[in-house]
Amino acid sequence: MKTFDVPIIYRSPLISAIKKKRKSEDRMKKDFSPTLLDFGPLRIYLARHFGFCYGVENAIDIAFKTVEENEGRKIYLLSEMIHNPQVNADLKAHGVTFLQDTGGKQIIPFEALTADDIVLIPAFGTTLEIERKLKGIGIQTEKYDTTCPFVEKVWNRSEVIAKNDYTIVIHGKPKHEETRATFSHAAANAPSIVVKDMAQTVELAKYILGEKPVGDFYEEFRGQYSEGFDVNRHLERIGVVNQTTMLASDTQAIADYLKEVMIRKYSLTEENVRNHFADTRDTLCYATNDNQSAVTGMLDVNADLAIVVGGYNSSNTSHLVELCEEKLPTYFINNEERLVSKETIQHYNFHTHQELTTEGYLPPKEPLTVLITSGASCPDALVEGVIKKLAGFYPASKSIDDLISQF
Ligand code: SF4
Repeated sequence: MKTFDVPIIYRSPLISAIKKKRKSEDRMKKDFSPTLLDFGPLRIYLARHFGFCYGVENAIDIAFKTVEENEGRKIYLLSEMIHNPQVNADLKAHGVTFLQDTGGKQIIPFEALTADDIVLIPAFGTTLEIERKLKGIGIQTEKYDTTCPFVEKVWNRSEVIAKNDYTIVIHGKPKHEETRATFSHAAANAPSIVVKDMAQTVELAKYILGEKPVGDFYEEFRGQYSEGFDVNRHLERIGVVNQTTMLASDTQAIADYLKEVMIRKYSLTEENVRNHFADTRDTLCYATNDNQSAVTGMLDVNADLAIVVGGYNSSNTSHLVELCEEKLPTYFINNEERLVSKETIQHYNFHTHQELTTEGYLPPKEPLTVLITSGASCPDALVEGVIKKLAGFYPASKSIDDLISQF
């Protein structure tokens, strides 16, 4: 894979050394066991894969180069570059202005832009409507478009599904930037609808099976279907794509469920199911698959708790939290400052969207075993900060330098 120029402040000498060693020993990425950092009284297991992915490094590289090469020009970002508060704050500190918030609410009107300005398109991509608006102003976006190729792959897959006359069902978070972009691209080619989870998919199936009045659909799925969507005609042939960062098992369950519904409705067999259900694989990206598989591998360790580091609005990070939560106490934090002391942690509950404070999060035992991973938009430096802070709570711990020498 291509390598990128990412500011050194986001790197971690310890984690770079570990990743380099693990990569050299496992080039085919078959080993999902975690890496043990044995501090003595504290044992940390780091997931095999975590941290900046291809799309994030590409976006950061382009964004910082754009800042460096365009002194004096106004540089805007359509919305958050990636879902990491530190990276977004650093870009703002370098003079980059955000045009929209993460939910698509306008902060600066497009009318304030001129053809001379630069607008960076984030890794999630953007909608065709916004692309047209920027072109209308005379802004050339191609050079500053950081859309991840794995997101474009989803758009291409939707195009193929559309060409074969299927309606596109997008499994994703309806308000997420990437899903809004994918919906816009899909809807340009075929009727499209977003389902956010299995519960919503089950409701959609009731319209397919004629179990709910057609008129209810338009209220129930408001804002999630394309213009002119006709429930009677547009649910006869469907194909599923998904936001690249969903939970693999959820996406699989939704596709399997919809396939079964079509088989039931049209009395199909495996041989002719394609008449009503497109034969496609999920569109999760490699980083989502690797990071989720690495968490599954890490969870084989008998541990006391897990810490997941990342931005609180990061979709891929929240799914890593979800996987850990099934097995053991899990704390979702965005940097080491959330480890207030050996007794107190401030963390995020992404189900209720609340920041919580928990006492006694580190059970009083030695050695204590902690699992750590991070999302695809989280700098390794933040994970190293968390490791150092935790180790600092155990005065008899080995030093980080001692550990680096092992790798
Ligand atoms: S998480 Fe996947 S799709 Fe998103 S930016 Fe990273 S590589 Fe691209």
